[in-house]
Amino acid sequence: MTSIGIVGAGAGGVAAAFVVADAAPDADVTIFEKSGGLCGRAATRRHEDLTYDYGANYLKSDDERVVELVTETLDSDGLVDVTEPIYAFEADDEVSPGRDADDHKWSYRQGLTQIAKRLLARTDATVHRWTRIETIRRLDDAEARWELDDADGETWGPFDALLVNPPAPQTVDLLRDAEWDAPLRETLVDAIGDVEYRTVWTAVLHYPFGIDVPYYGLVNTDKEHPVGWISREECKPGHVPAGETLLVVQANHEWSVAHYDDDPAANVAALADHAAAIMGDERLADPDWTDHQGWRYAQPEAGVDRGPIDSAREEGLYLLGDWVAGEGRLHAALANGLDVGERVVYGL
Ligand SMILES: Cc1cc2nc3c(=O)[nH]c(=O)nc-3n(C[C@H](O)[C@H](O)[C@H](O)COP(=O)(O)OP(=O)(O)OC[C@H]3O[C@@H](n4cnc5c(N)ncnc54)[C@H](O)[C@@H]3O)c2cc1C
Repeated sequence: MTSIGIVGAGAGGVAAAFVVADAAPDADVTIFEKSGGLCGRAATRRHEDLTYDYGANYLKSDDERVVELVTETLDSDGLVDVTEPIYAFEADDEVSPGRDADDHKWSYRQGLTQIAKRLLARTDATVHRWTRIETIRRLDDAEARWELDDADGETWGPFDALLVNPPAPQTVDLLRDAEWDAPLRETLVDAIGDVEYRTVWTAVLHYPFGIDVPYYGLVNTDKEHPVGWISREECKPGHVPAGETLLVVQANHEWSVAHYDDDPAANVAALADHAAAIMGDERLADPDWTDHQGWRYAQPEAGVDRGPIDSAREEGLYLLGDWVAGEGRLHAALANGLDVGERVVYGL
């Protein structure tokens, strides 16, 4: 039986697993995920009656196959579309109606992680959570298959095809340490190492009262403000009880890098002060509950040189994710996963 290993249960990895399960149902698919959750940076948390997407804010309808996937192929029960617009703000805290170019701003009542859960529900893939892969090994056998070691020293495989889904810097670490003696490994490390990332430090702020503003989100258009983005989770049906407010405040790259290791309480307080000033409501400086997350590798600034990535496929090694797609967006990661899944099936 053909055996396929996938490192990372991000949107890209699970979309590929979904395609393989559909087109090659006899293949044995195993996914290794270092965290306890599914869907990677499209991340959802729950706290009491609150559900909130604290990584990717929403799924755009910019890719036809992804639109078909979420609206037709997968169960669309609970798919919600934010209808309120996105406004703009500048360094002086001035808010103005912006250009809301997104036709759809999708999430699910239960949060964006539903995408991965619904994709995986259509497969027989085995998912090993809390399993960080540390070593990739190319076997010296006739089939040139792949083996993996996890952080607990367990060895997995062999796999006829290996799919690697982590952000570029984490993929580089795996390839740099790989037991794979081939010039292509060095070429891949050089190419993937060139992909730069934006860092985002996120504060989640809850208030026991509603606010009366006409927008869902605020984006900093002059890129001169320490805050890059603010959005209101209460605009997503099912996320926040009526009469309450839950803001997701994302600092810009420079602020996030400068404050990444600071006291989280101080960071949250600073971002709450900014939210109050931008949204013109001093009550927002004093949330009654908060959460936070630092995203060291939030979004790739650009794509990767595709030449070495394409060559690796001939070795049964498939690299995938938003950085391979060349766009730090959830729909791009999903679309790339669908593409890679098709290529894997074609190569079997
Ligand atoms: C703060 C923030 C805001 C964003 N806003 C938006 C938005 O509004 N709209 C939008 O479309 N996109 C947005 N994005 C981008 C979007 O989240 C990503 O483009 C998309 O989720 C990337 O999916 P992926 O499959 O490429 O990678 P990931 O989601 O990063 O998945 C990779 C997976 O690999 C796992 N992993 C890593 N290393 C290992 C290892 N050694 N062993 C096992 N598992 C490993 C990780 O835990 C992760 O689950 C945002 C991202 C962030 C962080």
